[in-house]
Amino acid sequence: MSLIDTRTPDPKRLISGATGDWEVVIGMEVHAQVTSNSKLFSGASTEFGAEPNANVSLIDAAMPGMLPVINAECVAQAIRTGLGLKAQINLKSVFDRKNYFYPDLPQGYQISQFKQPIVGEGTVIVSVGPDSKGQFEDVEVGIERVHLEQDAGKSMHDQHPSMSFVDLNRSGVALMEIVSKPDIRSSDEARAYMTKLRSILRYLGTCDGNMDEGSMRADVNVSVRRPGGEFGTRCEIKNMNSIRFIGQAIEYEARRQIGILEDGGKIDQETRLYDPAKGETRSMRSKEEAHDYRYFPDPDLLPLEFTQAYVDELAAKLPELPDDKKNRLVETLGLSVYDASILITEKAIADYFESVAEGRDGKVAANWVINDLLGALNKAGKDIEDAPVSPEQLGAILDLIKEGTISGKIAKDLFEIVWNEGGNPKEIVEARGMKQVTDTGAIEKAVDEIIAANPEKVAQAKEKPTLAGWFVGQVMKATGGKANPQAVNDLVKAKLGIE
Ligand code: ADP
Ligand code: MG
Repeated sequence: MSLIDTRTPDPKRLISGATGDWEVVIGMEVHAQVTSNSKLFSGASTEFGAEPNANVSLIDAAMPGMLPVINAECVAQAIRTGLGLKAQINLKSVFDRKNYFYPDLPQGYQISQFKQPIVGEGTVIVSVGPDSKGQFEDVEVGIERVHLEQDAGKSMHDQHPSMSFVDLNRSGVALMEIVSKPDIRSSDEARAYMTKLRSILRYLGTCDGNMDEGSMRADVNVSVRRPGGEFGTRCEIKNMNSIRFIGQAIEYEARRQIGILEDGGKIDQETRLYDPAKGETRSMRSKEEAHDYRYFPDPDLLPLEFTQAYVDELAAKLPELPDDKKNRLVETLGLSVYDASILITEKAIADYFESVAEGRDGKVAANWVINDLLGALNKAGKDIEDAPVSPEQLGAILDLIKEGTISGKIAKDLFEIVWNEGGNPKEIVEARGMKQVTDTGAIEKAVDEIIAANPEKVAQAKEKPTLAGWFVGQVMKATGGKANPQAVNDLVKAKLGIE
């Protein structure tokens, strides 16, 4: 790959060393498991968490004479992914054999695409932030290529005192390797890139993005250089499956390389591993130990060819992508870019929001989803999928506010009740007498009582009308927050004889 620099150094991304500023350069190779019921070249199931070796066909076990047959759905998924990454789709691509010996690889080679991948160059817009001012900054990261390949099996060394076992369930599962250009310039950008990539794949439905199940993992290439200078020698940190750890590993690795260079040393190109417990990367193998894979086109497979019409058909049915959704939320619902950016990050959050906003005020729905729902989820350490308040329940709460049945303050209490106990918000309001008091008779009685009990405040308020607020507060308190604030305000002013 020829390295082209597309970015000018950004002062706020630089790392200061003992001898001046440094710029970190990052390129990522992300392995994303293709969402598909069956494997890339066999009909075996891809289900996660099955009994070891339950999902292994004769092809996956590399029995003699077995021939691979390409899975059309995996091809379609790779094309959709390419379209989502605004990338070139190659109507002809080639599967090669990547030869190496390892017990979890029964074929003795991985079928992968080397010289002619299915997807070529593309771009991802990455929103970095929000910063302390609540601003997001958009950064463009180039995609070098996306190719299809098989996953390997898994060796298990902890099952028996003297033997190792192998589980071939993952053997032959389709992966997409998504290779970025070296366009990333900080650990924050790298994390934002992973987040955005995962979001795009989830919107497309081409990878579930579950990093803790290994559905998405990244090799992170890191080098440092003087700002805007020649690219430095990179080290590759293998097999990262947490966005947080990717950030930490980059921070550590950049500092390590700067330390070596400032001491007059040089960086050896090598593969490293990140140890989250120690917060360090350590060497796994040097470039000299790197494999020679002896790639050659797989003679069992014809080149993969399809028509532009097929690509167009898939493009026409592509779901809405995060950037488009963000623009739509801003343009049609009047949300701020900040709110829209938060809501679109996770498809599940966007779906939740849209379901609440349907037929209601978008900005009000956005406030509740971002501040109340996401706030409570965050506090409870829960994902949106496990939210105790459903979109229907939150929608019902918003309707009760809109109708004037409950005040905004009571709505917060109601939200908490639904969160803790579940139930139908409307019925809870009835059953617990949480209705806003709009009956002016009742409010009037409360106002009269407060006025009668505080003659000196009444005198002061006649001099200084802003003191009416104190009376409103007292009436609200006396009615347990259930009085309609507007009605209270009007009555207080009328009774005190102020405008
Ligand atoms: P390989 O296939 O040997 O890993 P590539 O040239 O295809 O090498 O690059 C792999 C990844 O490394 C790409 O994501 C690329 O952006 C990144 N990369 C290449 N050079 C550098 C560099 N000097 N610093 C950081 N990342 C780099
Ligand atoms: Mg590599």
